[in-house]
Amino acid sequence: MAPFSPSGEEVSGFIVGRSKFDHFLLREAEKSGAEIKTEKVVVGLYQERGLVYVKLKNGETLKGKLVIGADGVSGRTAV
Ligand SMILES: Cc1cc2nc3c(=O)[nH]c(=O)nc-3n(C[C@H](O)[C@H](O)[C@H](O)COP(=O)(O)OP(=O)(O)OC[C@H]3O[C@@H](n4cnc5c(N)ncnc54)[C@H](O)[C@@H]3O)c2cc1C
Repeated sequence: MAPFSPSGEEVSGFIVGRSKFDHFLLREAEKSGAEIKTEKVVVGLYQERGLVYVKLKNGETLKGKLVIGADGVSGRTAV
């Protein structure tokens, strides 16, 4: 199936099914050693001494060297 722009022109690109693609990425990350946490809501982020801290709604705080925001256009990490 060819992808089309909103104005109707045929464009180059790929279409992926998000449910399968997201699941594939999740499993690949897990295989590479990522710890998967689901059902967690990010309520805030802050930086301190070269680390990034991510505050979760359940009161837990995660820390790391880098945060990759993938929480959508109006997500906490985008603002
Ligand atoms: C009605 C509608 C129709 C659309 N139709 C099309 C279309 O036909 N073609 C197209 O190409 N694009 C379409 N889009 C745009 C497309 O959906 C987005 O561009 C795409 O989903 C963005 O992907 P993403 O992974 O960045 O964010 P999202 O798909 O929004 O995923 C963000 C994830 O982060 C999670 N999250 C958000 N906030 C937090 C938080 N504080 N803590 C923890 N998790 C959080 C969410 O639950 C979600 O699972 C449409 C969008 C809408 C709203």
